[in-house]
Amino acid sequence: MTETIPQSRTEAAADQIEDTAPASAKPGLLVLSPLRLEANAVRRGLTQPTSHVRRTGMGTARAKKSAGKRTPHPFGAMVVMGTAAGLSDDLSPGDLVVATEVSDGETTVALPGADLLAAELRRAGLTARAGRLVTVQKLVKSSERVRLAADGYLAADMETAALLGAAGGRPVAVIRAVSDTGFGPGMIRGGIAALRSLRKAAPVAEKWAAACRERTVLLAGPRSFCAGVERAIEIVERALEMRGAPVYVRKQIVHNTRVVSDLEQRGAVFVDELDEVPDGATVVFSAHGVSPAVRDDASGRGLSVIDATCPLVSKVHAEARRFAREGYTVALIGHAGHEEVEGTLGEAPSSTVLVQTAEDVARLSVEDPSKIAYLMQTTLAIDEAADVAGALRDKFPQMRAPGSDDICYATTNRQAAVRAVAEEAGLVLVAGSANSSNSVRLVERSERAGTPAHLIDGATDIDLAWLADVSVVGLTAGASAPPAVVSEIIAALSGLGTVTVTERVTTTESVQFGLPREVRR
Ligand code: SF4
Repeated sequence: MTETIPQSRTEAAADQIEDTAPASAKPGLLVLSPLRLEANAVRRGLTQPTSHVRRTGMGTARAKKSAGKRTPHPFGAMVVMGTAAGLSDDLSPGDLVVATEVSDGETTVALPGADLLAAELRRAGLTARAGRLVTVQKLVKSSERVRLAADGYLAADMETAALLGAAGGRPVAVIRAVSDTGFGPGMIRGGIAALRSLRKAAPVAEKWAAACRERTVLLAGPRSFCAGVERAIEIVERALEMRGAPVYVRKQIVHNTRVVSDLEQRGAVFVDELDEVPDGATVVFSAHGVSPAVRDDASGRGLSVIDATCPLVSKVHAEARRFAREGYTVALIGHAGHEEVEGTLGEAPSSTVLVQTAEDVARLSVEDPSKIAYLMQTTLAIDEAADVAGALRDKFPQMRAPGSDDICYATTNRQAAVRAVAEEAGLVLVAGSANSSNSVRLVERSERAGTPAHLIDGATDIDLAWLADVSVVGLTAGASAPPAVVSEIIAALSGLGTVTVTERVTTTESVQFGLPREVRR
């Protein structure tokens, strides 16, 4: 599909003759590249017969003229690809800038899917950043570069703002490769590096275009923070306000990288064990709970403890103590190594045995089969936990059960909600971190309903290939994932085409937990 371009053609005439896909092709990607070298670099990287490149000419005037012309080929999405001047000190020639917005000094156009595309370029091995792009009338001189950089622009070019209108309302993205970061002898080398990056970026632009379409996002309700997580975060926030930084937190306060990094920036120091906490300091125990041995250690060290253990986890600890006191062997259904499980096991270590599967139950032998009880980790998959509990009941008919369900309301509700959206969606995205048990269970719940699902910490974890044939996306968030991540994901998807958001609410929640006295005002 590459066309050899006669060198004598003028830039102004190029847009009429250099489209390279047959008119009969189904809508694909249209790339607008101002210069011949840029257009050729992109062409060399394209792989799809439905992609075509149009050279638009150098400078704002030619770009405006070109944007006003109708393209002879149908297209579903458009990318402006070319070189640019890098304005930020940390950009190097060959780095890619994906525009989050494009300004011509008077008008600014936002491009909400930029972070998705930049992440995809990075996954392809390229150095790419999402940031603000400015279109200027003339080549930028040193003093002008400094001023534009101070205004927060990453890169400058002379065409993009005038070209965006050519998309005609279709999804549009901008990939500019830094060719120079100032005037000097390295400009030619920088130009070559930029053209090489444009060629490598071309198939990624095609992947982006394949993901573009109108979609419905089905929001699972309830989703995101539960009462135990909100309480734990508020405890750390209040401890920071009332006692000042640093406040030490044993383990992650909740299993979410965003939450942890936000609190770190505000002065929380996360440690794995208490020996990392200085004598006399304030330490918060995480929402997942701790074993009595950890409490004793903190008390022996004279640490000032604030306990953020979720009350529903504390309830399981109390049940473990009660059953052990009454002479029962406790079969704890849960995942080995999870902090909550370690804390519960520590309540009665000589009376408690961990069972993860029905096979573990088959192997289990206890001294007195008439005195056995079971408990559960709060964040298990409901049906899998029920299978293990059923195997225990079959083997030990006199098995005692906890007074009320150990799998908490938040886990139960989010699993029911994700199942509802999974039944209608072609793909489910679950916001949450990889070490978040309840988030991982949501992925599994969707997959058991027959719908592929992916766990993502944020929008930039979305692989565009997942979206290629999907017009209905289910979206939920684990109990430890902030609601803002859900909004961020919807905003990013809207950069790939119009998004209609519909919520599927299976139940509403009103649970709230009180704060410990140490942080009450
Ligand atoms: S998921 Fe359940 S047990 Fe865990 S913090 Fe939230 S409410 Fe508490």
